[in-house]
Amino acid sequence: MRRPACILAALLAILLAGAAVRAQAPQTISPDRANAQTTDGGFRRAYQNPYLDHALGGYAQTSCKAAIPIAVARTQRIFPWFDEERAPQFSFHANAALDTPASPWAGGYYLRDRHIVYVQHVPVLLDQGRLLQTMQHECVHAALALAGSARLPLWLEEGCALYFSGQEILRAPEGSRTARTLAELEANIQTLSAQNDQAAWEEVRASHAQARRIVSLLAGRLGAMHCVNFLRVLKNGTPFAQALASYYALEVRELYAWL
Ligand SMILES: [Zn+2]
Repeated sequence: MRRPACILAALLAILLAGAAVRAQAPQTISPDRANAQTTDGGFRRAYQNPYLDHALGGYAQTSCKAAIPIAVARTQRIFPWFDEERAPQFSFHANAALDTPASPWAGGYYLRDRHIVYVQHVPVLLDQGRLLQTMQHECVHAALALAGSARLPLWLEEGCALYFSGQEILRAPEGSRTARTLAELEANIQTLSAQNDQAAWEEVRASHAQARRIVSLLAGRLGAMHCVNFLRVLKNGTPFAQALASYYALEVRELYAWL
């Protein structure tokens, strides 16, 4: 954060205004997007030069630009290797992002192979007071992608993005499926995230809540930094059960009680 604190505070107030989130579509990204292979050989300082859709008004453009260093700095506090140099490019859109499959939901997604964060329906996000959190959520995905090329389970990837960006999850509808095992949780998130309909997006909140809960309990157990180190070894290819045993002295089955 390099801008004067007073401006930051004012912008934060704007960005966080109306935090009573409503009609939130879950911030899911497909497993393919989450785990696509990195192909670029170097990182641009592209975060300083975001793409801003011409259809965005001046207020929205200013808010987007101001939110970038805040989202990056907050993410760096948790993932120290994620800095301005290695931050992704941001691409802000008034409606659905142009060069991606049209998506009606307001939110963001991270494309690992291009190291870019798309934020779509920016005016809706501003209205709902969740532009900054959306960007932080996607920065967590980007930070995890930078940590190594191994795939995290989808539940863990999303649970981390939700927990470390401090995101609220809206209530899932009555009767939404919940998992009793991690394999079941993984399958539920995968199935529901792949469906492009509102009902599935609302139902997946229950799974996201379960995923975030496990991450929050892991992070609460021995601290966030310990959890981040655990994530790093996973991203470097250590099998989940092995990393869980060495970092937490836990067996996978013991996590089922946290669901
Ligand atoms: Zn996500």
